[in-house]
Amino acid sequence: MQRTFKFRLYPSRSQEKQMKEHLRMAKDLQNKLLTYSIENYSKTGKFPSKFDLQRLAKGEGLYSQTQQTIAHKVSDSIFRVFKLRKKGIKCGFPRFKSIDRVKSLLYPQFGFKLGNKLKVTPFGEISIKQHRNIEGKVKTLTLKREPSGKWFAIFCVEPERKEPKTNHREKIGLDLGLKTFATLSNGDRIGNPRHLKRYENRLASYQQILSKKKKGSNNRNKAKLNVARIYEKISNARSDFLHKVSTQLVNDYSFIALEKLASREMSKKRFGKQINDAGWNMFANMLRYKAEEAGCKVIFVDPKNTTQMCSCCHQMVEKDLLDRIHDCPSCGLVIDRDHNAAINILNRGLRQIGQELPEFKPLREGTDTDKKLCQQVPLMKEEATCLSW
Ligand SMILES: [Zn+2]
Repeated sequence: MQRTFKFRLYPSRSQEKQMKEHLRMAKDLQNKLLTYSIENYSKTGKFPSKFDLQRLAKGEGLYSQTQQTIAHKVSDSIFRVFKLRKKGIKCGFPRFKSIDRVKSLLYPQFGFKLGNKLKVTPFGEISIKQHRNIEGKVKTLTLKREPSGKWFAIFCVEPERKEPKTNHREKIGLDLGLKTFATLSNGDRIGNPRHLKRYENRLASYQQILSKKKKGSNNRNKAKLNVARIYEKISNARSDFLHKVSTQLVNDYSFIALEKLASREMSKKRFGKQINDAGWNMFANMLRYKAEEAGCKVIFVDPKNTTQMCSCCHQMVEKDLLDRIHDCPSCGLVIDRDHNAAINILNRGLRQIGQELPEFKPLREGTDTDKKLCQQVPLMKEEATCLSW
């Protein structure tokens, strides 16, 4: 499994000018290849091959391997559309890029060397702030310009295989939500970071300011930059938070079950609005690669009915988004709804690996002792932060 390391770059003025010029060339090349492919298709009924595009991409002034990856990207995107259309799925043709949309240059193997500075062909040595050590073998480098104007080097790394540690700690299920970031099957909760909410409020007000500025005016550009900066802050804070939480979870537990990312429609139903897929995938990915090193097992389970089902007697207890408490009429279990879901998720995970949790097996109906067996958990006050992480 690959992981990425992202470091801020501090190019000199002339380097930055040259790098921006290369982004422009990358955009032009991409558009040129796309135009060629479309023309070729309308004339001959065939799309050009990867090899054709690769040949056509030569001599555009970009680093040779970067050029090649652009040719591959165009070719792949065309064939993806082609395949989908063949299956009868409607989808748009790959888009022509404006300069705003091409933000990165990819170096698939060669052309860069990392020492105290980052040496990249043809820009030379660029100052870099390496706040972490890269562990493993570097596969690719991407030079990326964020909308805030900051440059980053993103290294894709194949981690070294380490002996997994053995770990006999507690097993948990994790219910991810919007109001509370995660509720654990043992009743613990992980709230959303408060400062994120503050940034998001600021983002909303900056966006409003931006919407009132005249198109093409200087003030609009300034407002645009403000939005980009706060957006970047949010995305950094969010990724920091996800790193912290995932590290802590894999170190504290030996087994973590969580839901597979359901279809969009399902997540809408469950969370009231769409979850941010990128954030979810990022978190799932972090858990996966960190778990391996920590000797923890991560399992993804079917999300169907984890909220409705009673974790004690397995009866379906209907609830809508506003019902915060699971109150089971058949066995009498009263428990926070997310806690109930987290227990269901854990049980499904355990079943997947052929284990069951004895204390949450279905109970016989109705006796007082049974009711006591279903642990009642005091409800905590919700941390009133709601965000699409
Ligand atoms: Zn029940």
